[in-house]
Amino acid sequence: MKVAVFSSKSYDKKFLNAANQGVGHELVYYDPKLDASTAPLVGDALAVCVFVNDVLDLATLEILKQMGVKLIALRCTGFNNVDLKVAGELGLIVVRVTAYSPYSVAEHAVGLILTLSRKYHRAFNRVREGNFSLDGLLGFDLQARTVGIIGTGKIGMVLAEILQGFGCRILGYDAYPNQHFGQFKKAEYVTLDELYAQADIISIHCPLLPETHHLINGAALDKMKKDVILINVSRGALIDTEAMIEGLKSQKVGALGLDVYEEEEELFFQDLSLKIIQDDVFQRLLTFPNVLVTGHQAFFTQEALTDIATITISNISDFAAERPCPHEIRYIPKP
Ligand code: NAD
Repeated sequence: MKVAVFSSKSYDKKFLNAANQGVGHELVYYDPKLDASTAPLVGDALAVCVFVNDVLDLATLEILKQMGVKLIALRCTGFNNVDLKVAGELGLIVVRVTAYSPYSVAEHAVGLILTLSRKYHRAFNRVREGNFSLDGLLGFDLQARTVGIIGTGKIGMVLAEILQGFGCRILGYDAYPNQHFGQFKKAEYVTLDELYAQADIISIHCPLLPETHHLINGAALDKMKKDVILINVSRGALIDTEAMIEGLKSQKVGALGLDVYEEEEELFFQDLSLKIIQDDVFQRLLTFPNVLVTGHQAFFTQEALTDIATITISNISDFAAERPCPHEIRYIPKP
């Protein structure tokens, strides 16, 4: 089947081509992200393959439908960038990568926690300049701390497993609790307010939904401990960035580790090193010594990219063979 692959980078081509070996779909790669302005690139392809920052809103979906597209294959787990209701109404099938190495993302969250708690990002630069002073690098033991995990799905559970190894106390919150969470030592479910009140470190692993948009806002920050470390490797808009900046300025927030940012579409996955970045909110974030931002790279491991490519090709093959696809997603109206 002919597939137009949008937002494609060299690594996408490498891993998708490898997964497509012997399968034989015709993959046509396009650098731009998919939105209404780029949708006509799809040509006579029956499927589009898209990533986290492609925009599949009403305008884009209508053009895809007119162009004869039948299948939208997301090569990611999150699907907040697709208007599923409109896609369903237009008869477009949407499939995603339900799960891929959850270790990639959970381990990245641990990397952000350790970097911020032990200040590796500052030590790296300091030592390169011949400055071996330890002033300002004082950290703390993770073993003695309480970590709150919001969203105990695949990634949140792996994070809990890793943190158990550090000896942390672990507080979980989930709208749909996982019966296996209690298996971890020193782990218990609490209410969101209890998690906010007790956690020294809070890591967010729930999806971006209307009800979780700006979950971490000024009111939530007010309920947290002073010097709380916040980690977001899920979706940018789970955090109200302006409120977070106020929290950093007032020193309520001890440190912030982000792999995602609510306006990341204009920034991430491209080299802007010679450009003037116009996003003042993002630039303000980067001025804080206790903020660490990575550009949506938590998924970026060999294992995860192999899983993503294999499942994406398999999803496309299911559609081409008119088999039911276990990774299809549909709009579910609220009761
Ligand atoms: P998952 O579906 O396995 O787990 C999500 C958990 O969140 C579930 O247990 C669910 O019950 C819970 N949840 C749903 N609504 C909630 C709410 N209102 N409050 C609290 N919890 C709620 O998903 P996952 O594979 O663990 O991925 C989690 C998120 O990580 C994804 O939605 C995606 O946004 C993000 N992600 C980021 C990257 C990256 O590279 N940065 C990569 C993969 C996934």
